[in-house]
Amino acid sequence: MDETWRAELSEFIAIPSVSAMPAHREDVKRAGEWVCDFIRRIGGTAELTPFGEKELALGDIRASTDPENAPTVLVYGHFDVQPPAPVELWESDPFELTIRDEWAYARGVTDDKGQVYILLKAAQKLVEANALPVNLRFACDGEEEIGGRTIVDWITIDDDGAQAAVIFDGGMVARDVPALELATRGLIAYDVKVRTGERDLHSGMYGGAALNAIHVLLRCFDAVVAGPDGLLPAPLREGIAAPTPEELSSWSSLPPGAGELATQGARPLDPKAAEQFYTRTFAEPSLDVNGILGGKPGLRNTTLSVYASGEFTLRLAPGQDPDTIGPAAEKLVRDAAPAGAEVDVAWQGTPPSLVRPDSPAIQLALQAFEEVLGVRPLLVRSGGTLPIMPALVARRASTRRPPSIRSSRSCRRTRSCARGRGRSATTSVRTRASRR
Ligand SMILES: [Zn+2]
Repeated sequence: MDETWRAELSEFIAIPSVSAMPAHREDVKRAGEWVCDFIRRIGGTAELTPFGEKELALGDIRASTDPENAPTVLVYGHFDVQPPAPVELWESDPFELTIRDEWAYARGVTDDKGQVYILLKAAQKLVEANALPVNLRFACDGEEEIGGRTIVDWITIDDDGAQAAVIFDGGMVARDVPALELATRGLIAYDVKVRTGERDLHSGMYGGAALNAIHVLLRCFDAVVAGPDGLLPAPLREGIAAPTPEELSSWSSLPPGAGELATQGARPLDPKAAEQFYTRTFAEPSLDVNGILGGKPGLRNTTLSVYASGEFTLRLAPGQDPDTIGPAAEKLVRDAAPAGAEVDVAWQGTPPSLVRPDSPAIQLALQAFEEVLGVRPLLVRSGGTLPIMPALVARRASTRRPPSIRSSRSCRRTRSCARGRGRSATTSVRTRASRR
């Protein structure tokens, strides 16, 4: 690694910006200031800006030529990191950048300080060469690792917008195999409570005659979990956006699903699950019961329980709407309960997101990677949930003007194709997250 690069990244890494630990609150701010300083040093403007209860590193770098008419790209990354514990398992200081066998070791070096640094460095190189073809808007937060919503709230009210967005918070499928993540799944979390009587009963006296709340809860859950074919009931599969042939061809280049399951010691859900690993996790909804509470587990007893509760989460496939699927699952749960059972269901959802693979920004990104790395990135999706993605997609949908960025053979030519800055006409490209 180049000495200057190494020194700069080391400085960023050395700030212990652990958002989960209140003692590091000032360090998180310092890391945000570090990002702003860098942007200012390379000729941009930037300010660590209070927003809600936290702050965002917001910065602008103008295009080298004709910035008034150049398209704008929003750039997101985060400057906070996970706690380094357990520290004794580290072979080197987590906050000291260390290179061993070509690999960089440090807390946050792959999530997300290394990526943020590379984006800043790319901007610097283009500015120095007087060849930055787009206006850059940096919007970085310091609470990604604790599930903060500051960036989502900011996107919702931001008036300046962009024609494309890069979320750089991930890695590569394998060495020399880059990928663009086009979609995320949504998430609906359910709490279910069942009551079937006034007080717990003795099964010797009432068993066979009185309702048991645990049995009712099991029936409720059985109505929503995947069937023997591994798929959820039809009402929960409504609206799925089928993958395009280009996406399917990308997925066939990914490591085989059987291996993905086996390396985690997991067993396939059904006979087709391994073969369909990527369609199942990228493009199908899934549902997992996450906990059940009831009775007196661990004790041999004869209680007939009249109260039970449990939680399940439903991952929504791209294309699905929480406002359709949320009530549909609730109805299946309620309908499964017998007369006399009181069932209380509460849920809360985050939508999925999907960017079309033929979007101009995606096509430009594919070409740019191919020109620089000599390899075309795979088009993948994330099985996880990331609130910033649907927030960006929603802003794009709410804009009246179509995205003005145009596909062309190289990034440089987009300058001549630009139609100015539309309000939040955003196409987001998320580089592949480390395989979570
Ligand atoms: Zn991250």
